[in-house]
Parts: sequence; C-alpha cells; structure tokens
Amino acid sequence: MINKKFTRPVVIAVDGPAASGKGTVSNSLANHFDFARLDTGLIYRALGLKVLGDGTDASDKQKVILLANQLSFDDLNQENLRSEKVGAVASRVAAIPDVRAVLLKFQRDFAVHPPAEKSGVVLDGRDIGTIVCPNANFKIFLIADKDVRATRRFKELQERGLRAIYSQILRDIVDRDARDSLRSVAPLEPAKDAFVLDTSKLSVDATFVAVLRYISTQNKD
Ligand code: C5P
Repeated sequence: MINKKFTRPVVIAVDGPAASGKGTVSNSLANHFDFARLDTGLIYRALGLKVLGDGTDASDKQKVILLANQLSFDDLNQENLRSEKVGAVASRVAAIPDVRAVLLKFQRDFAVHPPAEKSGVVLDGRDIGTIVCPNANFKIFLIADKDVRATRRFKELQERGLRAIYSQILRDIVDRDARDSLRSVAPLEPAKDAFVLDTSKLSVDATFVAVLRYISTQNKD
C-alpha cells in the first residue's frame, strides 16, 4: 500500500539506459500496486516504425513531426516494435526537440488520467523523473554495465525466436546510449532526487526487492 500522504494518481518514474531492467521492474511495480503502466519507449518506437514504414528519412524533421502528431495509443500494440532496428530509429527521432514536445503531452495525459481510473501509474523511459513527471512521488534510475545489458537483450531476442548477433547488439546499445545521453533536449540522466540502482550483479528478484525497499523508506510518515 502506498501512503495516503501522496497525491493521486501516485506516479512512479523508472528511467535508465537500454536493457537496464526498466521494463521488468516497471511491470512488477504496476502488478504489485495495481497501477497502470506506460512504457514510454514504445511511443518513440511506434514513431520509429511509422518513419520506417513511410520511407521517411529520420532526419527530415518536418515530416517526422507530422507523423508524431498522428500517433495513437493503438500504435503501441504493434508486434514488431521491439527490434534493435526500430530502437535505433526511435533514438534518432527522439533527439528532435519538437518531436519530444508533441510526445510529452501524450505521456503527461496518461500520468494525470490513467486508464481504468487506477490510483497510480508507472512510467518508464529516459526522462520521466527529469522532464515528463518532475514531481513524481518516486524516482528510480537503473543502470548496468553495457556487456550485461547486451547479454540480457541477446537472450531476450533469442527467447523470442528472433535473430540475434551479440556484437551487433552491443554496438547498437553503445550507439543508442551515446545518442540518448548527448542529445540537447531531455538527455538520459538521473534526476537529482532519484534512487540510482546498479543492476549489473542483481537478479530480477533482488532488483525488485531493492526498489520496493526504496519505496517503503519514502513511504514512511
Ligand atoms: O526504452 P526503449 O529502448 O524502448 O526506448 C527506445 C528509444 O526511445 C530510446 O533509445 C530513446 O532514444 C527513446 N526514448 C526517449 N525517452 C523516453 C523513452 C524512450 O528518448 N522517455
């Protein structure tokens, strides 16, 4: 239970680089507290897929902004959003400031009016604690060594029966980290008041226990 002192909907922000464990932790938190969850990376991926499908050049800002304005929640349910190719285009369009401005509204609307009138939301991404929900009640920032993250992504793709080449995945992760961290708008960085957790040596369960411990310490009267 999350203390009544927190305004509703309660917002939990989970940020971090690619394959740091954000998705797994966010799902577990949403299930645990019966909160709604928005994987904000899917929004950028859905835009990346639209750009690819449309044959648009990811550097054609005006065209990409036009496509961003056409995004709907239904676009987040497409099957092929998780590939590294879509992730790479997502991180290129995510560096366009006007694109981020369009998608910011989408994310804030979800945080303020979660579906099914849930009493809280978990949003995961890169800039949730810093830009999208700077007043989030809880802010978690996960990190992990790049090799650990590449291994996780490699196994995940293999388990889903998708083609995976380790060296390529590692390169994509390093490229994406650089683009996400160095961009001028909403770069990947922990909020000053975030709980930063290195998951490199932690199991899924141990990560979740550490995150719940952080929430319970903030949750005290
Ligand atoms: O989290 P995921 O790997 O699915 O995100 C794909 C890309 O979307 C990231 O590499 C990043 O460039 C972008 N993104 C972002 N801000 C967010 C979520 C994702 O810039 N809040």
